[in-house]
Amino acid sequence: MQQDPNCIFCKIARGEIPSRKVYEDDAILAFHDISPVAPVHLLLIPKAHVPTLYDTDDSHAAVLGRMMAIAGRLAKEQGATDGFRAIVNTGRVGRQEVMHVHIHVIGGPDPLGPMIVRKGSQGD
Ligand code: 5GP
Ligand code: ZN
Repeated sequence: MQQDPNCIFCKIARGEIPSRKVYEDDAILAFHDISPVAPVHLLLIPKAHVPTLYDTDDSHAAVLGRMMAIAGRLAKEQGATDGFRAIVNTGRVGRQEVMHVHIHVIGGPDPLGPMIVRKGSQGD
């Protein structure tokens, strides 16, 4: 399996850095974000190292599909029963900080703030 020895999420996938795991199978790991922005904030990662969504192709379709397919179940199990956001930050413009593809699953009892503030909606 593709791994990057310096990648923090590869280290978490290998168990070298501890995480609060909520799901694991042969190809996927899901764990609580260390710095949650909402009551439910999970990260879903492929165990194999892939830096960004720019680096994925058809060979990653199955694992990415499985990650999306279990996101709702994990969100619900962790208490986000009335909706959540699944976000994949990508690259500099997407403000991706950890260069190992991950899906943020963010939710909680209260509605989240607007994700994108449109020009003109706040007086500008
Ligand atoms: P990004 O900005 O790359 O989309 O998000 C990276 C996320 O990883 C951030 O929300 C950050 O809090 C989380 N994170 C960074 N290092 C660790 C870690 O060591 N453990 C866990 N559980 N989350 C981490
Ligand atoms: Zn990695």
